[in-house]
Amino acid sequence: MSKYVFVIGGVMSSVGKGVVTSSIACILKSKGYKVTAIKADPYINVDAGTMNPVEHGEVFVTEDGDETDQDIGNYERFLDQNIKSENYMTTGRVYQSVISRERNLEYEGRCVEVVPHIPEEIIRRIQDAGRDVQADVIVVEIGGTVGEYQNILFLEAARMMKVKNPDDVTFVLVSYLPIPTSVGEMKTKPTQYAARSLNSAGIQADFIVCRSEREIDDKRREKLATFCAIRPEHAISAPDLELIYELPLVFERQKFGQKILNCIRLKDKKSNLDKWKKIVDLAKSTKKIVKIAIVGKYFTTGDYTLPDSYISIIESVKIACWHRKVKPQFSWINSEDFEKKPESLKILKNYNGVIVPGGFGSRGIEGIIATSKFCRENKIPYFGLCYGMQIATIDFARNVAGLKGANTQEIDSKTPYPVIHIMDEQKEKVKNKDYGGSMRLGGYNCVLKAGTIARASYGRNKIVERHRHRYEFNNKFRGQFEKLGLVISGENPERKLVEIIEIKKHPFFVGTQFHPEFKSRFLRPHPLFAAFIKHSLGN
Ligand code: GLN
Repeated sequence: MSKYVFVIGGVMSSVGKGVVTSSIACILKSKGYKVTAIKADPYINVDAGTMNPVEHGEVFVTEDGDETDQDIGNYERFLDQNIKSENYMTTGRVYQSVISRERNLEYEGRCVEVVPHIPEEIIRRIQDAGRDVQADVIVVEIGGTVGEYQNILFLEAARMMKVKNPDDVTFVLVSYLPIPTSVGEMKTKPTQYAARSLNSAGIQADFIVCRSEREIDDKRREKLATFCAIRPEHAISAPDLELIYELPLVFERQKFGQKILNCIRLKDKKSNLDKWKKIVDLAKSTKKIVKIAIVGKYFTTGDYTLPDSYISIIESVKIACWHRKVKPQFSWINSEDFEKKPESLKILKNYNGVIVPGGFGSRGIEGIIATSKFCRENKIPYFGLCYGMQIATIDFARNVAGLKGANTQEIDSKTPYPVIHIMDEQKEKVKNKDYGGSMRLGGYNCVLKAGTIARASYGRNKIVERHRHRYEFNNKFRGQFEKLGLVISGENPERKLVEIIEIKKHPFFVGTQFHPEFKSRFLRPHPLFAAFIKHSLGN
């Protein structure tokens, strides 16, 4: 039997529900409980794979090959455990199951209705998600904000679970308390409305996590207690923090874990966050900076830069830095700038290291090819992730092997030298417009070659890394490129697919066909990011 903590957002989006969910899961795990987390996304999209990352944020890929919301990445980084596909649901996915069950006559002639069949399917999914890990506690984050139409059926499912087993379910409302500059006082009214909206969905919050610039004071606590019907000590402060990983410590200082366990009738245990605190302290105290340029596209919308599209990369770099007692300073460089002004490439010399993240399509690609060439020739640490590896291969083909017009078939299907070509199993899918969830996805084996940067970084020769792509290195060119100094340092043993490339006589020029950023954990930096930072510091 699992217990359930539902995390629901109030007042507005982007208040950090994902980090609150992750932090609650983290503190309960640190007390010795088996914990997992679930994200319920209100979108009709069956998965996050078909959503534009500029609008929705990064598509996070799980080990078992699901394309999920970026919050799942936070759960993994905070909990230091893989989160399975079944821990992610969207409205689309829920309806899809109900409809296919109806088509299979599984409802035995009954009318299939939105209520109760949709919430029942949501409940089934929530209960199933904890089974394989035998979770004591499942923290369920409901996407969206209370009061909107979209997430009402998820709230209904949560309400039904509470009615059935009141001692097994608790509700946390994550709300925002503004401090308008003209007033200078923290206001609770929007939160009062949010708590009441939740009441009208049949749910009484047990806790209110108060997101604000500052900690809440006793006066606000009293107000929330009176108007939102919670205990005053159940108003939990969540002030703006320098780093998100501090939140579990902030929660623990307020005994949030103990209070939650109390509500769901589990015994409190002593938490162990010593190692966690050590890294947080390191991160906060370090002054030394390492300058990292991220070259690509998808960086801007209107006047704003949206690094959310690459959140796992950013977190991976930060974590690798903190464990080396430095902190990163990021610059987002639009590769199209290099196409317009090739002479501006020399700014890359101002950075300790360069990352080229994954991507799709042709915009800005020539600028990234030039970036690869510049880093290769000037011995600047280069870390190419997925598309970043494919593009480095194109640079090598054109500029070292002299294959004029070499390209990926994604951009030029008629290139004389398709050094990156479509994977066999992807051909049919693209022809039939079968795009959703159909890439090479999730964890695949990779064997590392002795004497390479990859082998030295991982310190072992077999790894599993996560993929999300349709194209791959064309093995026809492998022998030719190896003779010229390209090193294939990682290969999928089952299908002989090239997974990692390196360049000889370069301090760190590494391209991975997989996305290493999906496997960094706060307590365990990813080996390749750690090596990249180490070499960047030497540059
Ligand atoms: N567009 C490339 C492919 O599909 C790379 C994808 C990626 O970077 N995730 O193979």
